Amino acid sequence: METRAIRGFNDILPDQVKRWQHIEERARTIFEIHGYSEIRTPVVEFTDIFARSIGTTTDIVEKEMYTFTDRDGSSITLRPEGTAGVVRSFIEHNMYAKSPISKLYYMGMMFRHERPQKGRYRGFYQIGAELFGPKEPLADAEIIIMLWRYFEAIGISPFLRPEISSLGDENCRPLFKRELVKFFKPKRNELCEDCQKRLEQNPLRIFDCKKERCKEIAEKAPSILDNLCDECKEHFDLVKESLEKIGTPFVLNPRIVRGLDYYTRTVFEVTTEELGAQNAVGAGGRYDALVEELGGPPTPAVGFALGMERMLLLHEKMFPDGFKKEADAFIAHIGSEARNRAFLLAYELRKNGAFIDLDYEDKSLKSQLKRADKLGVKYTIIIGEEELRRGVLKVRDMRKSLEEEMSLEDVKKLAIKLKI
Ligand code: ATP
Ligand code: MG
Repeated sequence: METRAIRGFNDILPDQVKRWQHIEERARTIFEIHGYSEIRTPVVEFTDIFARSIGTTTDIVEKEMYTFTDRDGSSITLRPEGTAGVVRSFIEHNMYAKSPISKLYYMGMMFRHERPQKGRYRGFYQIGAELFGPKEPLADAEIIIMLWRYFEAIGISPFLRPEISSLGDENCRPLFKRELVKFFKPKRNELCEDCQKRLEQNPLRIFDCKKERCKEIAEKAPSILDNLCDECKEHFDLVKESLEKIGTPFVLNPRIVRGLDYYTRTVFEVTTEELGAQNAVGAGGRYDALVEELGGPPTPAVGFALGMERMLLLHEKMFPDGFKKEADAFIAHIGSEARNRAFLLAYELRKNGAFIDLDYEDKSLKSQLKRADKLGVKYTIIIGEEELRRGVLKVRDMRKSLEEEMSLEDVKKLAIKLKI
């Protein structure tokens, strides 16, 4: 008998683990400065939890779940995604009663019975975050801003395309579905068999079809963004406005439907052209009805999930020459007084969790910058005599070639900047 792992399940060997840890560590740093705490839920739940939250007519529930009968006859399922379990835990532990807002993140293995290929496995890892409580568009914006910040921090944002849309709510979505049925009915016979079924069960999902003919027909279908009710439109406008204010990029894609039934209003997907057919790196959105549907009090919520293996493939593309954890910053100094100050600053920054390197002897700025370049640091801090006199330092962003001045005294603020 051959000794091997189950198809679609991977070992992560020691020489790959550094990269994994780096992607995880950056998630912890970024999510935690946004106020999120980690939650760990079981990898197995009652099947009903997933069927009720993900939706019985979705691909996941219809075709992809690992469902077993437990010894006592109950039906249990290996989690195909993280949100349902987190919501179950949120309700079971009355988190809503303890605080009006809960911010949670998770990382861990998910299970879906799919056809394995590059970037698609049966056991795979997701990193996700969920924000419970606020119904305001600022919450949607903040979570998208945090997500983009994270992609920048691990260096893969140049490969990514952030798309957003709104799915409306219980007022406007049913009306839009009716519009869609009106549009697709006359073309019913040209649609694939699956889409003919979707036309009856959930016409929105026709937008998800990968078949050329169906895509062609769907192209001319009405757009949800032209059919939002006033409240949903205002909500979506405010989300876009906040993203613009912060400078977080996005493009509108009114064809986003998501493979899960629980989304309302804002939805988003992050895609890439670097991974062939596996173009989704992460996705999320608002799901205001789910907590109540699973038996909790009405609680608005918004969240996302990211595919770890796909982020890693992009990270390998971006940093192909092996991977070592680069220092967050290198401190260059000019003059002996600045050198002593730099030494002190390095110590203080390390105490605040930043990964710092510097030279001990007085070298030319040019040679120090060369060493910073070699280390591959994101930032170089420069302390010269003139800066020292004014109580400031320069922070140079090595990738963007931008420079800004910051106070020498505000070490905490500086450490946070370096770490993210
Ligand atoms: P896809 O369209 O690729 O099947 P999905 O819509 O089913 O993705 P989600 O349920 O939104 O995916 O999960 C969030 C992320 O998890 C995806 O964007 C993807 O990066 C990752 N992911 C989903 N399924 C798998 C899988 N089988 N193997 C590896 N990563 C996966
Ligand atoms: Mg899928």
